[in-house]
Amino acid sequence: MKATLTVLGSGTSMGVPTIGCTCRVCHSTDPHDRRTRPSVMVEYNGHCVLIDTTPDFREQAIREKISRLDAILYTHAHADHILGLDDVRPLSFRRDGKIPLYAFDNTARAVEHVFSYIFEANYKFGGIARVEMNRISGPVELFGARFDPISLVHGDAEIQGFRFGAAAYLTDFSEIPPDSKEQMRDLDILFLDALRHKPHPTHSTVENSLRLVEELKPSRAFFTHIAHDLPHEETNRTLPDHVRLAHDGLKLEFDIA
Ligand SMILES: [Zn+2]
Ligand SMILES: [Zn+2]
Ligand SMILES: [Zn+2]
Repeated sequence: MKATLTVLGSGTSMGVPTIGCTCRVCHSTDPHDRRTRPSVMVEYNGHCVLIDTTPDFREQAIREKISRLDAILYTHAHADHILGLDDVRPLSFRRDGKIPLYAFDNTARAVEHVFSYIFEANYKFGGIARVEMNRISGPVELFGARFDPISLVHGDAEIQGFRFGAAAYLTDFSEIPPDSKEQMRDLDILFLDALRHKPHPTHSTVENSLRLVEELKPSRAFFTHIAHDLPHEETNRTLPDHVRLAHDGLKLEFDIA
């Protein structure tokens, strides 16, 4: 079964341009240097699955003309990956039943805490997102495709990436454990965190992610969670042909099942 992956956002937690920054990437006229917070959408079989709901979700959904949402998977509960949950409201009102959310227990607990008004049974003011939390600890089957969590090290935290068919989306990691690498054989598309060149305690770098591409050998690799240190065109010229910086709005076809 064919699927389309759309990059909703390719930027790091503060987004690019970064508020108040005077650097050349933040002031670039190249639209690919404008990066909203990191998330992807996967469409197949008439359904739409989202990975993370960023603070830019509203802008991303309007840009990509999203008119339905069938499920949301969470990688972890950092602000740049969850704060747009409230903005799924219009999509949640135009469907039968609540939108199912899927997350590991620690992530689910953090989302329920931050958005306690959504999950409180006695919220009196109406107009809240119609969503329901589902705790997962392994693969989840959605609309004829399987999403396999991939455990990643993100500084001191353990978070999840996901493999779905011939694609894998790994955002926010400093290290990939050996067992997780076993889950990444024969990939067509691999998304990897590549914040910048300079080392960072909780994120991968361009150099580290290039080493991972060599090791894991996907047909195509895309770097994401990109900071304002990396100008799009200039950085792409330094990368091998099958490795590119992702950009907002990028669409890719692949086999999901
Ligand atoms: Zn992040
Ligand atoms: Zn800047
Ligand atoms: Zn994070």
